[in-house]
Amino acid sequence: MNRGASWRVAQLVESREETGTARTLVLEVPDWPGHTPGQHVDVRLTAADGYRAERSYSIASAASGNRIELTVQRVHDGEVSPYLIDVFSVGDPVEIRGPVGGWFVWRAADPAPVLLVAGGSGIVPLMAMVRARRAAGSRVPFRLIYSVRTPRDAYFADELRQRSRDDGGLDVSYVYTREVPDGWSSDAHRIGVADVNSHGWPAELEPTCFVCGPTGFVETVADILVALGHDSRRVKTERFGPTGG
Ligand SMILES: Cc1cc2nc3c(=O)[nH]c(=O)nc-3n(C[C@H](O)[C@H](O)[C@H](O)COP(=O)(O)OP(=O)(O)OC[C@H]3O[C@@H](n4cnc5c(N)ncnc54)[C@H](O)[C@@H]3O)c2cc1C
Repeated sequence: MNRGASWRVAQLVESREETGTARTLVLEVPDWPGHTPGQHVDVRLTAADGYRAERSYSIASAASGNRIELTVQRVHDGEVSPYLIDVFSVGDPVEIRGPVGGWFVWRAADPAPVLLVAGGSGIVPLMAMVRARRAAGSRVPFRLIYSVRTPRDAYFADELRQRSRDDGGLDVSYVYTREVPDGWSSDAHRIGVADVNSHGWPAELEPTCFVCGPTGFVETVADILVALGHDSRRVKTERFGPTGG
């Protein structure tokens, strides 16, 4: 990871509600060097008394000039995420550093099929890959399995619906852990072998797999993929555990 990059002062230019507990923040970053989908930034807040808090946030957007989008989930009792959601306002500055990360990235030149498996806010870097694929005009087939508690907790739901409708190369399926939509064909459940087997790619196709979400979710899915015959070197994981301190 390249954490040596310097801090830059970004400005919030737009903020929009994604779900009842998550917001997308559009930042203008002077001299932004660009990013590869899957990378994240470090965000640093400094209080009036000099106290600092630093957290990592994945980039949700495809590369686009000096703008990047972050989507932040409110963590109950959290120090940084409630501030970013409730207090941070359009026009406010914030320090960011990055882009960070060189392993959990998708490059449009890679011809292998892609399986994306997201748990909750783990959709964020995977959405950057979906968007970058489209921006690059790539025909690489993508399958996304997205696990959320309820339909109301799904980020980017309208955009994903539209993208998968307009593009036969993008398949999106959902797993609901607490509440399913009306008429849904299965009960609420945690992701299991059957979900990954029916909505993922057969291991023989040698897809690149990206798994992102809470630590337990990522470990469960990575184990399932390996048990289904996927080469562990092609299973790339990102854990959204606590950062900073
Ligand atoms: C590489 C990376 C990328 C990330 N990308 C995103 C992203 O795109 N969007 C996003 O919303 N978050 C993302 N995170 C998580 C983010 O960095 C923070 O951990 C999260 O916002 C909580 O920070 P906080 O200051 O609000 O809570 P804290 O004050 O750090 O924690 C408050 C309490 O919540 C617990 N907690 C902290 N983080 C989490 C968590 N993620 N899930 C459950 N409990 C937690 C802590 O153990 C503590 O008990 C990412 C983390 C990493 C490592």
